[in-house]
Amino acid sequence: MSIAITLPDNSVKHCDAGVSVLDVAKSIATSLAKKAVAGKVDGQLVSLDTQLNADAKLEIVTKDSADGLAVLRQTATFVLAAAIKELYPDVRLGQGEAQADGFFYDTDKDDGQLTVDQLPEIKAKMAEIVKADQKIAAKTLSQAEALTYFANEPFKKQLVQAQAGEIKGFQLGDFFDFEEAALLPSLKELKHFSLLSVAGAYWEGKSSNPMLQRIYGTAYYKEADLEDDAKRRQEAKERDHRNIGRDLDLFFVDPKAGAGLPYWMPNGATIRRVIERYIIDKELADGYQHVYTPVLANLDMYKTSGHWDHYREDMFPPMDMGDGEMLELRPMNCPSHIQIYKHHIRSYRDLPLRIAELGMMHRYEKSGALSGLQRVREMTLNDGHTFVALDQIQEEFKKILRLIMDVYEDFNINDYSFRLSYRDPKNTEKYFDDEEMWTRSQAMLKGAMDDLGLDYYEAEGEAAFYGPKLDIQTKTALGNDETMSTIQLDFMLPERFELTYVGNDGQEHRPVMIHRGVVGTMERFIAYLTEIYKGAFPTWLAPTQAILIPVADVHDDYVQELKRKMLAAGLRVEVDNRNEKMGYKIREAQTRKVPYTVVVGDKEVADAGVSVRRYGEEHAEEESIKMFVEAMQAEVRNYSRD
Ligand code: ATP
Ligand code: ZN
Repeated sequence: MSIAITLPDNSVKHCDAGVSVLDVAKSIATSLAKKAVAGKVDGQLVSLDTQLNADAKLEIVTKDSADGLAVLRQTATFVLAAAIKELYPDVRLGQGEAQADGFFYDTDKDDGQLTVDQLPEIKAKMAEIVKADQKIAAKTLSQAEALTYFANEPFKKQLVQAQAGEIKGFQLGDFFDFEEAALLPSLKELKHFSLLSVAGAYWEGKSSNPMLQRIYGTAYYKEADLEDDAKRRQEAKERDHRNIGRDLDLFFVDPKAGAGLPYWMPNGATIRRVIERYIIDKELADGYQHVYTPVLANLDMYKTSGHWDHYREDMFPPMDMGDGEMLELRPMNCPSHIQIYKHHIRSYRDLPLRIAELGMMHRYEKSGALSGLQRVREMTLNDGHTFVALDQIQEEFKKILRLIMDVYEDFNINDYSFRLSYRDPKNTEKYFDDEEMWTRSQAMLKGAMDDLGLDYYEAEGEAAFYGPKLDIQTKTALGNDETMSTIQLDFMLPERFELTYVGNDGQEHRPVMIHRGVVGTMERFIAYLTEIYKGAFPTWLAPTQAILIPVADVHDDYVQELKRKMLAAGLRVEVDNRNEKMGYKIREAQTRKVPYTVVVGDKEVADAGVSVRRYGEEHAEEESIKMFVEAMQAEVRNYSRD
């Protein structure tokens, strides 16, 4: 019998039924067959030796494609599991998976879980299995056979029981594992792999299930790719704000005290305080009025605002006070600023009215999404709401954008992009229901961006429920896109809260609200800065700006006097007069990434000077105290980086 095989370019090949994927590849080109590692039949990954018995769409999967990498990594999980079972027969296996950047397998063991200490041994066993190059053969077990085979594997048994019908898998020697997808035709291709780390992971991702040990690894076809990957991971690790935050004692999060609820240590608190003061001054100079409003409010406020209907899954559950009152932790500050607006009668002369606050808010983020300071459950937003007349929207939007870009320049942030975030047209019930409002305000934002001549991209489904927004997107050290600053147009909340102003015609009019965050939340912003600066904060932000080290006890008075002078000049300094070697103290100051290390000995005392070494530099330079202090002050004033 002949079957018709449709290739990706829509050409059709007629072959005898029973032809293998590899045979088809060979019949197309020998070079293609050489690069082939699997096939994709009607969208499903299959091994090269899979026989085709009916008409089908076929794509040959080659090494240089994402699918090709997935097949390699799927094979790696299989070999990893086989190696683990050979070394530690009492380990219970969970599941393995190929991912975009590697692979993992979950394991469980009674007496001492697997840790990174076992990784070299496991890797060596994997290499041994690869070298032996035994054939991995596809095999199908009945439910009963699978249950017998997995008699001592409770997690695998659960998987078998959850599945109807036969269990598809592969066999290598005595080892059998589930495998829906394809594995490599020969283990020989699995040469360049590494095992990276071990971390706890709940079985099937549910926190009510047991915690298993997840072993992570990665694999490539080429050695150079594996080396690049290792470099990338090392770089990401060095930049990861969670690691730097621990090393520089900036903050911590303790799940026992509350997941996603960060504690700011004095060093982190200093950075935050400097930024908060900076941003408040900047906003005051730009015409904002700063306020304080409560984090708790009557739930009715969030019913009126629409948060209760559209944003409930991100909110903490309300507190029932027992007397009919329901209190809610706010997930956004907008309704609070609306109260401030409504407290007085407003006239057209008051507009644009700019209300700002470092507003603390709470969002019930999923526990799996929490990450250091980057995604938390309690956060403080550099929030602001401008109330404008219709004809003031564009001007105000531009003013806000100028403020944001000005602030970015002070922080030396250059790598960002603009995203216009629209409503998802296929899922409109998630949003405020006013067709005309959406069309008009989306066009308005786009118009303003075009007017400014700035590049942007458009994303459907990223709008707030009450209106479209401009998001300013940055990248984390791990390469993920994140929103830092936003400007959002809102016709809805003024309507719902019945906001008005008296126009110069003496009539009442409805203002428009613009929500904006300049640096976003303190938490996410400082996580981001920590990563771009790699913990080496510029002088104006550094928790400790200078460490003063006397060479000997006799220089201590001089150093203490210098410290007093610098503190009086508004600088943050410490004296290190511990009984340690000079070289050790200097190295430690460098490890702490303190911008200036200042050494004082006989010569400096005689010259009324200091010997100054900048962070990251080999050599020290002698300067007069006056020049040194003035130069540091200027650096702080100018937010300069060097
Ligand atoms: P995301 O899509 O990241 O959840 P969002 O679009 O819900 O954020 P907005 O409601 O626009 O965010 O919030 C304003 C700012 O608050 C964001 O730009 C971001 O800087 C910050 N932010 C939002 N959620 C968190 C969080 N869980 N932890 C820290 N910062 C956050
Ligand atoms: Zn708002």
